This record gives sequence, structure tokens and C-alpha cells, in this order.
Amino acid sequence: MKIVEISENLEKILFYAKQVMIVSGAGLSVASGIPTFRGKGGIWEEDSENYVNTKFATFQFFRNHPEAVINWYRNRLEKMYDTIPSEGHNSCADLEKTLISYSKKTLHVTQNIDGLLSKAGVKQLAEIHGNINFVRCANLLGKHRGKIVPFKMNYVNISNEDMFCEECSSPLRPNVLWFDEYYDIEYYNIDLVDNFTRGLDLIIFVGTSISTSYPYQLLEYSLIHNISILEFNDVGMIEAPQLFAFKGDVNKTLPDFVNVWSRILKK
Ligand SMILES: [Zn+2]
Repeated sequence: MKIVEISENLEKILFYAKQVMIVSGAGLSVASGIPTFRGKGGIWEEDSENYVNTKFATFQFFRNHPEAVINWYRNRLEKMYDTIPSEGHNSCADLEKTLISYSKKTLHVTQNIDGLLSKAGVKQLAEIHGNINFVRCANLLGKHRGKIVPFKMNYVNISNEDMFCEECSSPLRPNVLWFDEYYDIEYYNIDLVDNFTRGLDLIIFVGTSISTSYPYQLLEYSLIHNISILEFNDVGMIEAPQLFAFKGDVNKTLPDFVNVWSRILKK
């Protein structure tokens, strides 16, 4: 049974596309057991008794309670430790390899902070909300700004070395974007994404509600520049004349679509 139907028109677009951007969100990671942060059953709801999320996930809150924040993320990492990439993640890695083998340019932009796309083998990757597996020094004036190091996985005894920057003794913070912060070029690859939009001829949204500002900007840019848009999601979020929408579980539709695309390129 065919899961995705590709029209003749879309087949042409997929054959000729030279520069392809994939934009993914929480819907891609749900099958790996990573709950979404927002919404019912999401991480923020689960913890809502303890914290109001828009207050907790802020630099302001971290400044006053660095230990509470670091411990929360450590606990989150521990729960995520043995998660593995889903079919959807793996198909993104397959797609990248296929596109590159046909000399097409590709960039995967993700809102997910779980690091599962790089675990799956995606190389051309911009994690625009950061990655929970890494920390950086919280000192805004530090000269070593930009240095991102792995989060030490020591849950039982948290030593001072794990909590503070070895260069200036400021607290270490997760390398993730918080509610009161702007996209920072140095940490979130925004310049890479911006540069890639020049010459873009196909954009594919996967499992994202496009509720955060940057993916929304990418959608707006695509609409204005008449770039072909594909959407894989359980519910359609996008309306556009140049849209091709594939509704359903992205862990089923996306792998099937990647197989079809690779057959089209072989022709
Ligand atoms: Zn420092």
C-alpha cells in the first residue's frame, strides 16, 4: 500500500530541486519517547506544579537559581539517556545522503534540543534551539564565549567542576534557547540558516507547529519567494498555494517519501 502519493507536478519539483531545507519540530521525536514541551502531557505540563514554565525556562530564573535549573536539566537528560533515533530521524539521515550524492545542497534546521538527529547521522544540521547535551559558560562578558562543552552525566554527586566554568567560575548553563532570549548567532547557527535561504527552492516542514518565531519567518520567506513547500504533520498547519501536505504519523510518511524521492532521482 502506498503511504504517500506524489503528483506529477511534485515529482518534477523533487527531481529538479537544487537546494533543500528541512525544518523539524517536536513531532519528529515523539516516537523516540521524547514528549513535546508544550501542550497536554508535555514536559512543561508535567512540571507545572513546581514551576511556571515561562518563568522557569528563562535566563532570569537561572541567574537566581542556577542549581535548580541545572538539576532539572540533568534529570531530564537522565530520562532521555537511552532514547534512540526513530524511523523519522533515520530517514532524514538517508535523505541527506541521497541528496548530497546527487550534488544537491541540503540543510536540516531543527527546533528539537534532544540531539537525536545527529545521533541518526544528520551532518548538515542547525539546532536553532540548542542541544540539551551541551552546556556553556553563563558569563555574558566572558572572553571564552562560544565555547560549548558536553554536559557531564554525573547525577549522584554533583561536584563544583560540573557546575561552574573552569575558566571564570561562573555557573554553566544548558546550551538551549530560553523564553526570554533571542536567537544568538554564535550558539544557534542562525547565520548558517539565513545564508542557506538564498537560492532555496524547496522547504520541507516536519512535525512542527511553526509556533516559534524563526520557523514562522522561514515559512513567510518561502511564501514571499514562491519556494515550493512540503508539510509532514499529523495535522496540517500551513496554508499556501504552493503547498504539498502529507498528513499522518511522520515516522511512517517520511521514510516512505524518502524512498519515493530516491527512486525519482534514479530515473
Ligand atoms: Zn566562563
